[in-house]
Amino acid sequence: MKRTTGQTRSITEKWRPATRAVRGGTWRSEQGETSEAIYMTSGYCYEDAQTPADRFAGAARGMTYSRTQNPTVQMLEERIALMEGAEACRVQASGMAAMSAAMLCQLSAGDHMVMAQAAFGPTRWVTDNLLPRFGIEVTIIDGRDNDAWARAVKSNTKMFFFETPANPTMDIVDISAVSAIGRAHKICTVVDNAFASSALQRPLDLGADVVAYAATKLMDGQGRVLAGAVCGTADFINGVLLPFQRNTGPTLSPFNAWVVLKGLETLDLRANAQAAAALEVAQFLQGRVPRLLFPGLPSHPQHDLVKRQMKAAGSIFSFEIEGGRAAAHAMLDALELIDISNNIGDTKTLITHPASTTHSSLPAQVRADMGVSEGMLRISVGLEDVRDLTDDLTQALAKVGL
Ligand SMILES: *Cc1c(COP(=O)(O)O)cnc(C)c1O
Repeated sequence: MKRTTGQTRSITEKWRPATRAVRGGTWRSEQGETSEAIYMTSGYCYEDAQTPADRFAGAARGMTYSRTQNPTVQMLEERIALMEGAEACRVQASGMAAMSAAMLCQLSAGDHMVMAQAAFGPTRWVTDNLLPRFGIEVTIIDGRDNDAWARAVKSNTKMFFFETPANPTMDIVDISAVSAIGRAHKICTVVDNAFASSALQRPLDLGADVVAYAATKLMDGQGRVLAGAVCGTADFINGVLLPFQRNTGPTLSPFNAWVVLKGLETLDLRANAQAAAALEVAQFLQGRVPRLLFPGLPSHPQHDLVKRQMKAAGSIFSFEIEGGRAAAHAMLDALELIDISNNIGDTKTLITHPASTTHSSLPAQVRADMGVSEGMLRISVGLEDVRDLTDDLTQALAKVGL
């Protein structure tokens, strides 16, 4: 099996992002298939005894076992790295496997980490419950405040971690400014880029060291599989992440890798179309709901920062309605087209009540500090006709008397 015609790194790096998304990383077997093949195999056979000996010793390239590498999985890793502008990438079994691997592969007892308070619920469970059990101290700050990052730095700080836009409050973190503070103190800045994807935001170009993904979301884009990815320098991915990953085993299935590989071919189209649709839905809701958390609108306090670091504000946003949890649940029950689902980044428009789902495992006070109110709803806008979405929201708001 070989890479498609002439696919050396020096050629693929000349390709523009859209070309990388469609062709980057493709290998072709002797059958000459146009679509990438799925290699559902856990092991590999060798022509002679010396071949595996050389591969295990690192003296020859080639597959040894699918916990460490698999052709379909490696195609996905090469494609994501090219799209991200990263030297290397490793994929994981889920977004949370990616987040926890990005932390655990490089933090040790006695280290300190700084974390933005607005984050995916399970990520906060890892920083609030798991890391302290292993003697890793975490300081939680308001990620929107650049000075708060600088103030939180200690002599043993090893990592800055944040999402931007953050789930579900849509807080925006200034990637360039925070990465620069990190760099000055030899701190590794890790960005969870799930809400934007490389189509709308490229954190490594802005100075971040590591980008981590829930590829479950926009990368797959059609709500089919769970997957994760971590991108960074070749030294970090091969020297720090890989030993952790190959020995702890958060491996992605070749089938799931293939699904994401095909999803990436349309990522740019989907991310931009869904972001444009989300802007229209947000404009429709503006004035109809008491609070709208959409950084793509000029009225949002962080709109200028969004314009500086994102191509568009993305397809996911939150809003609040009067009447707390009861009204929020009634509003969800009144919808006829938009599905009640805590997933995001799908071609189908999905809506959820974060306080009783994605963020329900957090103590009420932590939710309140993060700004996740009882009347908050988070919507992920898909590819339906926007007029059908606003019609559905209109009838649901009317039905609950809002
Ligand atoms: C969904 C999500 C994750 C976790 O991804 P899974 O594939 O569900 O494990 C992490 N971070 C963010 C921002 C997410 O939206």
